[in-house]
Amino acid sequence: MSAIKDEIAQAVDRLGDELEALSHRIHANPELGYQEVKASGWLAEFLAAHGFRVERGVAGVETAFRAEIATGDGPTIAIMCEYDALPGIGHACGHNVIATAGAGAGAALAALRDRLPKGRLLVVGTPAEEGGGGKIRLIRGGVFERVDAAMMIHGWDRWIPHQDLLGVDRMTFEFTGKAAHASADPWEGVNALDAAVQTYNNVSMLRQQVRPTARIHGIINHGGVAPNIIPEFAATTFYVRAAEIPYLRELKRRVAACAEAAAKATGTTLKVVEHDTAYEPMKRLERYLDVWRENARRLGVTLSAEVKDRLGSSDVGNVSQVVPTIQPLVKIAPDGTPIHSRPFLEAAVTKLARDGMLTAAKAMAMTAVDLLGDGGLLDKIRQEFRSTS
Ligand SMILES: [Zn+2]
Ligand SMILES: [Zn+2]
Repeated sequence: MSAIKDEIAQAVDRLGDELEALSHRIHANPELGYQEVKASGWLAEFLAAHGFRVERGVAGVETAFRAEIATGDGPTIAIMCEYDALPGIGHACGHNVIATAGAGAGAALAALRDRLPKGRLLVVGTPAEEGGGGKIRLIRGGVFERVDAAMMIHGWDRWIPHQDLLGVDRMTFEFTGKAAHASADPWEGVNALDAAVQTYNNVSMLRQQVRPTARIHGIINHGGVAPNIIPEFAATTFYVRAAEIPYLRELKRRVAACAEAAAKATGTTLKVVEHDTAYEPMKRLERYLDVWRENARRLGVTLSAEVKDRLGSSDVGNVSQVVPTIQPLVKIAPDGTPIHSRPFLEAAVTKLARDGMLTAAKAMAMTAVDLLGDGGLLDKIRQEFRSTS
């Protein structure tokens, strides 16, 4: 195994300039979720040029793709690429690095395909992580069926093999009241904005009584059209996050109760809009993570301890609930740089980002080789997957 790992590292290094150029091109052309036409096209072309059979528009998602090489009967390993940007600020989550690390791992393995253990390698292009739930649509579309293990990396300010992710669900509350002149006949009106404000305040109080890992945060999306009209319509949207799915459900019920109480108090009618894109918590699979740790250390990476209080959410959590999955964090920014910030946006195209991307590509390709080559290892990972909630 050692010889092929050295060759993987060399293959990734040979691709370094091409991968960095692609990463910078994606960064310079930020596209929002489900609109990543350029990024998905460039990645698909890159993988096709490196010998993958590429299918675009999988699971009815135009900017998703599935690239495959097969070396014979054996397990199927999927490496995921994200490439959507954030509204307003662009690639401040560094998804350009995720995309090219995944594509680079795939291309390096394709270069050594004659010598790989038997199996199938997939590189899956997963759009719209930032709220759109692209991976949820791909799961529903069957893209992860018959996949034995999946992996992706995410840029961060240090190397951390596993970071917990909170489950998150979204709820919108629409209140309908009755318009009236706000000065001449206010008693004729039923104020929908009051219901939205009351909901916000109820949730603010609820927040004092939730577990420290839970997060509830929201906005008023619509609060009326003019100050001299009693608002006849108002809407609020909340994100509810929790570390476990049952607690997430409980919190959702309690947040809904905040809106119901507000509707009752104000005399408005309430419509609850469910978003159908709940992100699930991330499973932690120690045996699988050990494989990553070993390969990362082999590449000279110093691994940091897990961060316990900076918790986000991702649709990779949903993938981790259906197939053994890891999402290690990779250092692409100076220590202390938060994601979704201007400094992280700038860091995502530096030498540090290039180094992180190439090292991550190597570690993912090596991990894929370990999984393909050792059926016993995959069995142990599957066992842990089944026994982990
Ligand atoms: Zn993000
Ligand atoms: Zn991200």
